[in-house]
Amino acid sequence: MKILAFLAMLALTAPVSALDDADPRLLAEINRIRAVDNHTHDDPADPQRGSSWQADTPLGAADYPDVVPLRRDNVEWIEAWRVLYGYQHRDLQPAHLRELLSAKQRLMREGGERWPTIVLDKAGVDIALVNATQLGAGQRNDRFRWVPYADPLLWPFAGDKSRLFYSGGPSSIAQLQRELSVTTLPATLDEYVAQLVEPTLARWQKSGAVAVKFLAAYARGLDFQPVAAEAAAAAYARAAGGAALDPVQTRTLEDYLFYEICARAGTHQLVVHIHTGNGVGPYFNNARADPLLLETALNSKPLRATRFVLVHGGWPFTPNAQAMLDKPNTYADFSAQTFYLTTHALAAVLRNWLGWQPEKVMFGSDSYSDANTPLSDYEEKQVLMTLKSRRALAIALTAMVRDQEITQARAIEIARMVMRDNAVALYRLDGRP
Ligand SMILES: [Zn+2]
Repeated sequence: MKILAFLAMLALTAPVSALDDADPRLLAEINRIRAVDNHTHDDPADPQRGSSWQADTPLGAADYPDVVPLRRDNVEWIEAWRVLYGYQHRDLQPAHLRELLSAKQRLMREGGERWPTIVLDKAGVDIALVNATQLGAGQRNDRFRWVPYADPLLWPFAGDKSRLFYSGGPSSIAQLQRELSVTTLPATLDEYVAQLVEPTLARWQKSGAVAVKFLAAYARGLDFQPVAAEAAAAAYARAAGGAALDPVQTRTLEDYLFYEICARAGTHQLVVHIHTGNGVGPYFNNARADPLLLETALNSKPLRATRFVLVHGGWPFTPNAQAMLDKPNTYADFSAQTFYLTTHALAAVLRNWLGWQPEKVMFGSDSYSDANTPLSDYEEKQVLMTLKSRRALAIALTAMVRDQEITQARAIEIARMVMRDNAVALYRLDGRP
């Protein structure tokens, strides 16, 4: 009795954690699911990786004030360090962190080309979609699937100028031209589509890409509108002749090419990923990244055979992303919400989405490495954000069972769909035609 009373008291005084709101059996089941991660920027194996990390500042330093979950001294990283490197401490003492950084460097070295796969194994991730300019060493196997950037195709006249900052290196229309040995930019829009857009998509699909990604919201609003081919062709011809385009003409050409690229991606079985919602840096323009702005494109008849994923689920516009999931061709992942939100806040988003269109919701970690984050890089994000997603999912589903919205069996089924099965079906990862 005494022991029981003591345990009860412990339970009352223990800090409230995410796990208190999750059915432990359901969470255990979810922890066993071999996940498919819809959106990462996982790095390839690289012997030089980490060479700039400083032993005396193991946590690195930030360029601007990070949000709390991404701060280098967020205590949640400790769990990732334990999983990845066997960190035994519960603190961030400088001596412990120096030791930790050298343990990470040693394990990376020993892992060599296997390191990217080792990280996936530690996170319980079976397959990661990697959004980068190319896959690299250690990523060319059945565990990593490529998602190249389609934005350069929107800007035929940008040349070598990379309009956006892409993870994994620069990507430009001039480079895509070189890869296809197209020496001069075609004179007409039709020829541009035939000689550059179409063959690039075909080549990507052939080399194993499962989707293409647009970061366009970093450069303009997502309100792509259908435009007449003649107007776009006239704008293209004008620029091809060396004249500058005004903002309306520029937009006309972008809008036209967006529809062309998306329709053709669909024909090539490439899913279209679109960055929606908050982006990198304190000066990102959220308003023009609202998923609601995509509604005209998502509804348009020529794009109904293309499947779209609202990457990041549009946060802070998550109800707007949810509303878009009604459309048969539209899906969402909750990548980046994994680090914008606390576990409980993420669970609240998931509960709404899963009570709406659970077949359209996918797990994504948005793991990436920052300029100077030695101990909160892609590895730590891959582990922590996957774990956090499993917990948030368990909390949401536990509440849905408790409120008798779904059965226990359906909760487990939905968990498998979100962590794995929805992505397997969308990208045909099981090899089905
Ligand atoms: Zn991302």
